[in-house]
Amino acid sequence: MAASTRIKSVEAMQVTWASGDPPGRRSALVKITTEDGVAGWGEASPMQGGLHSLGIVERDLAPALVGADALDHAVLYDRLFHRHIKLGPEGALTGALAAVDIALWDIKGKALGLPVWKLLGGAWRKEIPYYASIGGNAGRTVDETVRVVEARWRKENPAAIKIRWDGDRTRQDEDIPGDIAKAKAVRKLVGDDFPLAFDANNQYSVGGAIRVGRALEELGYIWFEEPVQHYDVRAMGEVAQRLDITVSAAEQTYTVQALVDMVEAGVRMVQPDIVKMGGITGLMQCAAICYAHGVELVPHQTQPTIGNLANLHVLATIMHLTKPAEFADAGGRMDAGFRSIPKPDNGRFRVPDGPGLGMEVNEDEIRKRI
Ligand code: CA
Repeated sequence: MAASTRIKSVEAMQVTWASGDPPGRRSALVKITTEDGVAGWGEASPMQGGLHSLGIVERDLAPALVGADALDHAVLYDRLFHRHIKLGPEGALTGALAAVDIALWDIKGKALGLPVWKLLGGAWRKEIPYYASIGGNAGRTVDETVRVVEARWRKENPAAIKIRWDGDRTRQDEDIPGDIAKAKAVRKLVGDDFPLAFDANNQYSVGGAIRVGRALEELGYIWFEEPVQHYDVRAMGEVAQRLDITVSAAEQTYTVQALVDMVEAGVRMVQPDIVKMGGITGLMQCAAICYAHGVELVPHQTQPTIGNLANLHVLATIMHLTKPAEFADAGGRMDAGFRSIPKPDNGRFRVPDGPGLGMEVNEDEIRKRI
């Protein structure tokens, strides 16, 4: 193997961007350095602060990665996945492996002097429109929901908007008339032709989901996300098959086998997340499954820096990109950690041409926040 790509060190770090950030607002980053000093960066899902994934990286994955060839990322992924399968195989383990995979692709691109999208087979597009993903609406009134949506709509000019509920997961069908009223008010705000999506965050019964879904069809929403609990795959499939509106799911799906289960149940738009399952390698496997089954791939993605960038590289290479990319966090609160990273520009992102992921990390600033 080329000396330059032998892994020398693996670091896992939780970054707190501003004092008082709750765990979910922090970032779970991984830096992998080769013997030649090439550094790749990856990111895991920050669920509960990402410490579970970072712990697995530090304690379990790092010792096996040091000395291995960074370019063997797919072999390393499957070896480490199966070695630690009883820690998962869902959630923290796949988040840890996703962060490692993204960092190893960054190294591969830097070692070969090529952007990741080129290594994946070339780009169908270099500019990718995004949708503003706006959470927390379960706890807002109709007027508050409209105000929050209006602020991002006017400021960013996104290609579409998704309103998320983020309610109490232990309750079902809590306020169906109120939910429909919010969907209606947002439709009125943006006009008949603007693309809107509704994310229930798993809060309806099958019957409740059908009722809300019918209302969304009337209002011209283009997709209805996770209407029922993600772990109830049969119910998700039933809702997807009974409604005319496109029902999406699978942001909480962590293996390709589980993705196939969701598709076989009847879901026709899936949303695996690059920092939760498989990283770049895993998302490309999902793309092949979607292509084979005629299913829309619209990845879930809430992290505004490395996760977003890795996702954009994959989306650049997907032939049938039917929906904009997700973008949840437009405030720029992590900017200090990066000298260059794609920023939203009039509802679009430009995929960079630099080697690897094509970003420049401001490591001093990141280290101040660990
Ligand atoms: Ca969602």
